[in-house]
Amino acid sequence: MNNERKAVINMSGENFKASGYQLVDKIAALLDDIYNKPVTTGETPFELKKLLPSSVLPENGTDAITLIDNAADLLINHSLFNGHPKFAGYITSSPAPVGILADMLAAAVNPNVGAQILSPVATEIEIQTIKWLAQLIGLQSGYAGIMVSGGNMANFTGFLAARTIKAPKHFKEQGVNMNDAKLTVYCSKTTHTWIEKAVVLFGFGTNSLRWIATDSENKMDNIQLEQTIKEDIKKGYTPAIVIGTAGDVSTGVVDDLKGLAAICKVYNLWFHIDGAYGIPAAAVPELKTIFDGIEAADSIALDPHKWLYSPLEAGCTLVKNPNHLIETYSSHPVYYNFDTYEAERAHNFYEYGLQNSRGFRALKVWLSLQQVGSNGYVEMIREDIALAKLFYDLANQHPELEAVTNNLSITTLRYIPQKSSSIEYLNNLNERLLNVLQSGGELFLSNALINGVYCLRACIVNFRTSKKDIQEMIDIIVREGRKLHEQFQQ
Ligand SMILES: *Cc1c(COP(=O)(O)O)cnc(C)c1O
Repeated sequence: MNNERKAVINMSGENFKASGYQLVDKIAALLDDIYNKPVTTGETPFELKKLLPSSVLPENGTDAITLIDNAADLLINHSLFNGHPKFAGYITSSPAPVGILADMLAAAVNPNVGAQILSPVATEIEIQTIKWLAQLIGLQSGYAGIMVSGGNMANFTGFLAARTIKAPKHFKEQGVNMNDAKLTVYCSKTTHTWIEKAVVLFGFGTNSLRWIATDSENKMDNIQLEQTIKEDIKKGYTPAIVIGTAGDVSTGVVDDLKGLAAICKVYNLWFHIDGAYGIPAAAVPELKTIFDGIEAADSIALDPHKWLYSPLEAGCTLVKNPNHLIETYSSHPVYYNFDTYEAERAHNFYEYGLQNSRGFRALKVWLSLQQVGSNGYVEMIREDIALAKLFYDLANQHPELEAVTNNLSITTLRYIPQKSSSIEYLNNLNERLLNVLQSGGELFLSNALINGVYCLRACIVNFRTSKKDIQEMIDIIVREGRKLHEQFQQ
C-alpha cells in the first residue's frame, strides 16, 4: 500500500482481495444453495440478538477479513430470503445477481450523484437509465426524472412536483393553503399508504384527501371521481391532483388510466400514476391496452426493486416535464443559466429531488437492463404472470381452496375446509394459517383483506419461482390448512 498514513479503516489491495474473494465465494454458494435453504429460519428477535456481538460498542477494532467473513455467515445463515424461489410475499423481488455486483462497484467508486461535477459518468448513466425505464414501459415523449430509494419516495417526489404546479403562486413563501386555497387530492380506496403520509407531510392535511370508491373490478370509480370533483368545485375547493394506480398492492388491479387522464384534462388536474408495482408490465405487448393512458401522466412512480428485480433500494420518478422537478427542488435560480448556456447546463440531480448527496442507485438498474434487454424483461414478467395464473387455477381446482382474485402477478386465495364454515371461522383460520406458513420457512406469502374476506396473497416478482414451486406451495397450504382445521375442531 503506497500510503504513508496508516488509518485503521483502510485496507491494502491484498487484504481487500483476500476478504473479497472469500465473500464472493460465499455469495456465489448462496446463489446456488438458495433453492434448498429455508425461506426463513423463523428465529425470534431474542434469539437473533444473541448472535450479535456484546451490546457495548467496541473500543478497539477487529480485523476486517474476519469481520466480513463472520457477517457473511451471520446473514447467510439467519436471514429471510426474498430471493428464495418460494418467496411470494408482499412485493419484494429476488435481487438480480448483476445488481449485487453493481452495488459493490458503485460503493467502490462512490460517485456522489447529487452534482454532475462529482459524478461525471455516473450522472450520464443515471440519465440514460431513466430514459430506458421510460422506453421500457412504452413512453414515447420526453419523460425524465430521478432515481430514488423506492416507491414511497418516487410517489412523494412526483406529489411534490404536483404541489408546486397546483399550489397558489407564492406558496413557497406562504405555505400551501394561503388564501384558503383548499387544494384537494383524489385517489381510490386501493391506493397504497404513501398517500396518507404525503398529505400529512406536505401540508395538504388529511381533510384534503377524497377517497373515491372502487367499481366491481376494484378500479377507481371514474364516475364518482368526476362527481366528487364537480361538487368540490361548487363548494369552493381547488381540485389539484388525481392519483391513479397501475397495479394495486392487494390485488394487482390497474385503474382505468385513460379515463382518469381524460378527467384530469377536463378539470386541469395533475395526473400522477403510482406504478410502483405494476407498471413494468406495460412492456408486455399483449398487456399494453391495460395501461392505456400512461402517456398522459404528469408524473409516474415505478420501482425497479420490485418487478425489475433490482436489489433494494431502487425507485424512480418519471415526469413529463422535467422543469416541474427543477421548479420544485432547485434551490437556486437555475434559469439564469438557461439563457446562454442551455446546452452545457450541468445536470445536477440534487435539483431534481429531495436528496443532496446521492448514491449511485442507477448502476444496478442500468446493468440489468442491458444484461437482459427489454425482451428479457418482457419474458420474465410474462412468466411471473403465468405462474400467478397457475396458482389461481390450481387453487380453483382444489376442493379445499378458493381462488379469489388474479391480476398481473398477484393471486389471492384462501383455505376452505367446508363450504358451510362461517366467514369469521374462515378469516380466523386463514390468518392463523398465514402465520404458520410464514414462520415455517417452506414458503412465504402475505395477506390481503378483500371485501372483508381474509385471503392469502401470492405476488410473483421472482425469477427463481417455477411451476413446480407453485404446485408445491399449493400442497403446503393445503397440508397446513388441514392440520389447523383439525386442531380447531378438537
Ligand atoms: C410497494 C408500493 C409502494 C411503496 O413502495 P416502496 O418501494 O415500498 O417504498 C407504493 N405503491 C405501490 C402501488 C406499491 O406497490
